[in-house]
Amino acid sequence: MNPFRYAQAADAGSAVTALLGDRGMRYIAGGTNILDLMKDDVEQPTLLLDITHLPLRTIDAGPHGVRLGALATMADVADAAPVKSGFPAVSQALLAGASPQLRNMATIGGNIMQRTRCAYFRDVSQACNKRTPGNGCAAIAGQNRNHAVIGTSENCICTHPSDFAVALLAVDTLVHVRGAGGLRTIPIGDFHVLPGATPNRETVLEHGDLIEAIELPASALARNSVYVKVRDRASYEFALVSVAASLHVTDGVIRDARIGIGGVAPKPWRSHAAEAALTGRPPTPETFAAAGVAAASGMRGYGKNDFKLTLTRRTVVRALEHAGGLA
Ligand SMILES: Cc1cc2nc3c(=O)[nH]c(=O)nc-3n(C[C@H](O)[C@H](O)[C@H](O)COP(=O)(O)OP(=O)(O)OC[C@H]3O[C@@H](n4cnc5c(N)ncnc54)[C@H](O)[C@@H]3O)c2cc1C
Ligand code: SF4
Repeated sequence: MNPFRYAQAADAGSAVTALLGDRGMRYIAGGTNILDLMKDDVEQPTLLLDITHLPLRTIDAGPHGVRLGALATMADVADAAPVKSGFPAVSQALLAGASPQLRNMATIGGNIMQRTRCAYFRDVSQACNKRTPGNGCAAIAGQNRNHAVIGTSENCICTHPSDFAVALLAVDTLVHVRGAGGLRTIPIGDFHVLPGATPNRETVLEHGDLIEAIELPASALARNSVYVKVRDRASYEFALVSVAASLHVTDGVIRDARIGIGGVAPKPWRSHAAEAALTGRPPTPETFAAAGVAAASGMRGYGKNDFKLTLTRRTVVRALEHAGGLA
């Protein structure tokens, strides 16, 4: 690990100003992701700015939804009654991630900023365009069982590891960010970006941007949401494929739907094709099967991860059976 300095942020505004003036500086929240990457020499900040003393831990519920401070822990958010009742997929996704110890430490802001678990990215002896642009991608012809099947580029085929961010897609979440130009709001679907020619860029945030809050707007759709995660072992494991599904059904017809998919793309993947296959149709096994097929359309495997196409189809159906009351 490289030597680095440590400082505590006094307030949100001065934290942003400090980072804007120093490209080697990085925020640290729970530290469960950035410290691992520093130990592996994947990240080498010269100064860590500790934001954990900022007043961004509150969970505020009202008639219009829930506002989560970016420093609220995964455990506290998963446990919050208004999140469990109004946004069940969000609570389920948080509880399906990491371990109790990690969830007590890790923050939700850090969760949506966490970096890929691609083993080549974390091994500095391997070629990785995300770590070193122009270096190549060892995963494309390598051990790519855990890698992406949609949204990839010739430069990077990694997956985004966050369960929470997948669930946020199913409930129309907004991310509130403070940056050089003041406060702005970013819909979660626009927050992460695909690798394209610049896999080193993962979100629309600029250096210095600070996530202050994550807002969950109340809706009938969000109240009827579920999260299903398929993984190699039952706990303490990242998703092979996961699905967050939300359905709003009245008079036997699906009026609105959201399908977020994890473990398949370099960003939390929203399947508009699956949503279109659901909307205006009855919540039947046939409709759900068609949505599963639509979700997997456009996917391609890289050899060892070909199974993810079938797994996506089946996991979408399973999540819809739960959201649609057929399970
Ligand atoms: C063994 C293990 C298993 C795990 N399993 C899972 C899993 O199954 N599912 C899952 O979803 N996650 C999993 N995780 C990841 C874990 O959830 C993340 O490490 C954690 O959520 C990151 O939060 P943090 O507060 O510790 O972030 P930090 O490590 O402090 O920060 C991570 C990044 O976010 C930036 N950052 C933090 N807060 C802000 C902010 N407010 N604004 C702007 N930037 C910010 C930091 O600069 C840094 O770049 C696992 C982690 C480990 C170590
Ligand atoms: S898949 Fe992406 S993160 Fe993994 S080695 Fe290739 S470029 Fe790096």
